[in-house]
Amino acid sequence: MDGHTDGYVQYVLETLAEAKKRCPDAILLIEQRLDFSCWVPDGFGTGDALIVADDELHIIDLKYGQGIVVEAERNPQMMLYALGALNIFDGLYDIRTVSMTIYQPRRENISTWSISVADLKDWAENTLKPLADLAFEGKGDYHPGAWCVFCKAAVRCRARAEANLELAKLDFALPPLLTDAEIGEVLGKLDDLIKWADELKTYALDGALHQGKQWPGWKLVEGRSVRKYTDEDAVIAAANAAGYKDIFRKTLLPIGEMEKLMGKQTFAEVLGSCVHKPAGKPTLVPESDKRPALNNVKTDFNEFQED
Ligand code: SF4
Repeated sequence: MDGHTDGYVQYVLETLAEAKKRCPDAILLIEQRLDFSCWVPDGFGTGDALIVADDELHIIDLKYGQGIVVEAERNPQMMLYALGALNIFDGLYDIRTVSMTIYQPRRENISTWSISVADLKDWAENTLKPLADLAFEGKGDYHPGAWCVFCKAAVRCRARAEANLELAKLDFALPPLLTDAEIGEVLGKLDDLIKWADELKTYALDGALHQGKQWPGWKLVEGRSVRKYTDEDAVIAAANAAGYKDIFRKTLLPIGEMEKLMGKQTFAEVLGSCVHKPAGKPTLVPESDKRPALNNVKTDFNEFQED
């Protein structure tokens, strides 16, 4: 975490240095409260880093999560923050462009997108405000999607449940074996489905365990458990008395703990050459994922034949 936040700070400072080349008076604000309630009732947020340099406003947001790759392009949260920042600085500077950067170190993702202030305000007036007013009145449509994981209503939301259960209703055509396209379609829905199912199970268990909730057709039982020593000193004494002396196991500190013990620099000097980061386990991801595709066995074989 320390390394990732250092990287973020360095990125912000480099961006500030770049801005200062164009505008020596460029300013940096961190943890700035941003109020966009004139477009979204009660709407406000906190901008991680804001750089104001004459005609350009740059907002940088650190995303520490790694579950979902977050893109800057037309990112509504960033656009809202940009509006909040314009509320403060628009009267003081002649801002023409807003750039927004998502810095997501655990996905090696730095995504930047720019929009003119005119286009941003047009979106705010003609798209954002009408939708926000509708939502604030409890009207409008539900749109389940990847963003649901951040919603407080996610576990019990009917629209999300229906979207996830759609998978179970997929009406596959004959022949009896799923086609490649159908498997591709199912794969695209499984992550959300598994996540939603896990969240619902956790929610139901928590309710039954801590609030005495009775779910129709379900009951609480004791799960499987593993044996444990009740008193380790007594175990050592009893084992020794029975003639068993070689009962301890020594293990090497894991890499993270060793690095903490030695400090980063010493660790790199002393053990750097002894550390190897093996290739990650192959995993299937959507084509939109930024990681380069691995060659599979068939591709390798074809390339071998072509050689
Ligand atoms: S869980 Fe429901 S209410 Fe929340 S964002 Fe998703 S669709 Fe909207």
